[in-house]
Amino acid sequence: MTTTRPDTKTALARLLTEIEHRNPAQPEFHQAAREVLETLAPVLAARPEYAEPGLVERLVEPERQVVFRVPWQDDRGRVHVNRGFRVEFNSALGPYKGGLRFHPSVNLGVIKFLGFEQIFKNALTGLGIGGGKGGSDFDPRGRSDAEVMRFCQSFMTELYRHIGEHTDVPAGDIGVGGREIGYLFGQYRRITNRWEAGVLTGKGAGWGGSLIRPEATGYGNVLFAAAMLRERGEDLEGQTTVVSGSGNVAIYTIEKLTALGANPVTCSDSSGYVVDEKGIDVDLLKQVKEVERGRVDTYAERRGASARFVPGGRVWEVPADVALPSATQNELDAQDAAALVRNGVKAVSEGANMPATPDAVHLLQQAGVAFGPGKAANAGGVAVSALEMAQNHARTSWPAARVEDELAAIMTSIHTTCHETATRYGNPGDYVTGANIAGFERVADAMLAQGVI
Ligand code: GLU
Repeated sequence: MTTTRPDTKTALARLLTEIEHRNPAQPEFHQAAREVLETLAPVLAARPEYAEPGLVERLVEPERQVVFRVPWQDDRGRVHVNRGFRVEFNSALGPYKGGLRFHPSVNLGVIKFLGFEQIFKNALTGLGIGGGKGGSDFDPRGRSDAEVMRFCQSFMTELYRHIGEHTDVPAGDIGVGGREIGYLFGQYRRITNRWEAGVLTGKGAGWGGSLIRPEATGYGNVLFAAAMLRERGEDLEGQTTVVSGSGNVAIYTIEKLTALGANPVTCSDSSGYVVDEKGIDVDLLKQVKEVERGRVDTYAERRGASARFVPGGRVWEVPADVALPSATQNELDAQDAAALVRNGVKAVSEGANMPATPDAVHLLQQAGVAFGPGKAANAGGVAVSALEMAQNHARTSWPAARVEDELAAIMTSIHTTCHETATRYGNPGDYVTGANIAGFERVADAMLAQGVI
């Protein structure tokens, strides 16, 4: 028989206050912790073993946090000093796994929010990966290849001692793509004298990378959005979609949407957005962003009459059936959500990590919009990273079709798990509750089995 604990909610609220107190000036981490803890009351009440003192307290405290100096020289010989981070949050399910973000907004609180999210996201994939995240406040924008290389080499000169294929496996995130992973891997190999393919994922296809890894986050999010629509008897074909961002996630989201017959009409960067009535031409976008490392206004200039650049605007004002935020945290607030609802949006699925603010999520859910939280919807990237680790371990590489089939199966299974879990806990259709509880159950079971560590 289940004992209901009327004090569960109070205990969680007290823990949240304590988290805020013990981790001052980390608003993004507070937000991520609150978002998860607020949904856990029903599972803690139903499963008394999870309410064991110390379990949730251990979950919100990273196992290890590394902060280090990253000095490097620019092309003119000037010395710069950045800060490097790696937060090894939870390894109950496998080696710490999660990307590295290079962006001026990075600080310890941002990395902790990302690492915390990663625990549940990685658990939802069903694969054997723990949660971690890292990065630096280094801004790669406007830097030469040689500067980026020197920065990556300096960063890895400290990071190498904390990572390893059985310990902690970083990958990319904002500001870290194939070029950076190459430089990081090179320096790791040089320092350790080990050709240890499984220490990083997102490698080039010719030297240990997995096919479909670059596409995986965006493709996976589109598959998740399609699954949510299917649940409501609809599909993506013919749907007008808005996508924010123009990095790796946004590009492959747009590519998959187009392939499935939807019409993705926007992309953006910090300077504004592009709206293209004919649908974003993904080859042109790749040329501008990935080859030339340019900005989205250049896309609009080259595309011709169908596209225009709106300086300073937000894509959420463009009417759409489906919205896929794929830029960064807190990029979609309550006002944006209200605009989307006014224009009749049916589904919002997070390609980025925590792009919708709590108020926005609440508003969308109240309006009956299907909402896919990032830790479920964008898990395709890290899932294919885990498949890359499997290939590295077996010293083999799989054809693209095999990886894509596995990705599709994983996304379908994450959708089903979240949907069923939400229903089981009395919130049918609430993917936020479903994702948090399902991720939590898997990690909590492993933590309980492995004792107080
Ligand atoms: N940075 C990605 C994420 O947010 C991918 C992490 C990985 O592949 O390890 O999930």
